[in-house]
Amino acid sequence: AQTGTAQIGVTGLAVMGANLARNLARNGYTVALHNRSVEKTDALLEAHGSEGVFVRTETLAELVDSLEKPRRVLIMVKAGGPVDSVIDSLVPLMEEGDIIIDGGNSHYLDTRRREAALAEKGLHFVGVGVSGGEEGALLGPSIMPGGSKESYDALGPLLEKISAKVDGQPCCAWIGTDGAGHFVKMVHNGIEYADMQVIGEAYDLLRSGAGIEPAEQAEIFGKWNEGQLASFLIEITAEVLGHVDAKTGKPLVDVIVDSAGQKGTGRWTVQSALDLGSPTSAIAESVFARGLSSQRDQRAIGQEVLAGHEVAVDLGENFVEDVRQALYASKLISYAQGIDMLTSAATEYNWDLKLDEIASLWRGGCIIRAELLKDITKAYAAEEKPANLLFAPAFAAEIAEVLPAWRRVVATAVQLGIPVPVFSSSLAYYDGLRRKRLPAALTQGLRDLFGAHTYNRVDEEGTFHTQWSGDK
Ligand code: NAP
Repeated sequence: AQTGTAQIGVTGLAVMGANLARNLARNGYTVALHNRSVEKTDALLEAHGSEGVFVRTETLAELVDSLEKPRRVLIMVKAGGPVDSVIDSLVPLMEEGDIIIDGGNSHYLDTRRREAALAEKGLHFVGVGVSGGEEGALLGPSIMPGGSKESYDALGPLLEKISAKVDGQPCCAWIGTDGAGHFVKMVHNGIEYADMQVIGEAYDLLRSGAGIEPAEQAEIFGKWNEGQLASFLIEITAEVLGHVDAKTGKPLVDVIVDSAGQKGTGRWTVQSALDLGSPTSAIAESVFARGLSSQRDQRAIGQEVLAGHEVAVDLGENFVEDVRQALYASKLISYAQGIDMLTSAATEYNWDLKLDEIASLWRGGCIIRAELLKDITKAYAAEEKPANLLFAPAFAAEIAEVLPAWRRVVATAVQLGIPVPVFSSSLAYYDGLRRKRLPAALTQGLRDLFGAHTYNRVDEEGTFHTQWSGDK
């Protein structure tokens, strides 16, 4: 390999690494390639070597040697232990000021640990959230880099160049120090779970409630994609619902087993939300809904032994439009809660998160890209930042408009026995935010009685404990 000529090295050339390496080369960068087993390197060069300037290397030492300084090595190996093992092998080969980048789906706490350890050695460690899957990696992903600001100066232009663009703006911006990039990527994935769950709830209401078949729903979702709900996920919902199974001639959705898988980032989001004390109910309910769907043995028994007592209700004349409005409201709550979680994390980890930039870079190259993100960007670009997305005047007004339909749909779902965990818990969150008094006062009374946990009074400063009748 030529010494000191490549602008960036990529180690780990499975789907994601290979596509990012190609994206970099197609954008004019000289890219050094490395993979633990050299077969993947050669396969990539064989299939796509003519797309740009690549440098073939067989060892990490060769990879590091091939790079211009400060060196930039992008790690795209399996998340977890393999990342630590690659870092351990790279560190002795690198010099002060060099940059190690982890573009995989690492947990942000791992990224914080790795960043601190490498900073002690004078190396920059940049955890980068890369969204958009295989296609995004090749054609332009949404990119969420953490790490030091200084490292972004050296890395940012390159990442911005290969990122998705919306209205000429790159879907990439420095997020914040250490694990901030991976944290924001994680929350993005959590929102993706909630986004998909609310779409599923709408589909179920239209199907089980109104008897609208998938083919007709494909058209409904297609229309919805032209309005307020316009987004990648609504667009592909129309495609999935319109698809006919070649083998049986049935709608494909009817031959797919109704048990949803998960790879773990939704669970991470909920675990972090619990740690932060952040009420991220929409994402949590979405993760739990997938969990329940996977308990197929219990569901088989439940279908036999559990009573339903569904109540036939009049759906009203505008049920489809009602469902659309309820879907929009619930979707807004998912975003509001996800963003609220970012705000809590910013305080906890001392990150200066720019919520307008984050919303803006989710507009392209990722699964949750949606028209709505333009207005969210605007809401946080305003001089007066709302304490909650729902308080931004434009959104408060929108929710007010769809609220009657949202209440009708949740009430109808309850009567019909159609589970709508995110539609309903989001409405509870909304009402919780606006109620003057919450039953938490009673909770505090109970806690004081059984555990002397004390309470505050509405009319006096200080903490109080009552001598309950049972006290000795
Ligand atoms: P992957 O299947 O997660 O990992 C395979 C790669 O890791 C191979 O190059 C493999 O090398 C290497 N590897 C595994 N253990 C290693 C070790 N101990 N030392 C050195 N190399 C090791 O690959 P992927 O699907 O391309 O994903 C890469 C990263 O991107 C992961 O963190 C994944 O979670 C994330 N990802 C993101 C998205 C997205 O939408 N953003 C989508 C998919 C994946 P060998 O070839 O030698 O086995």
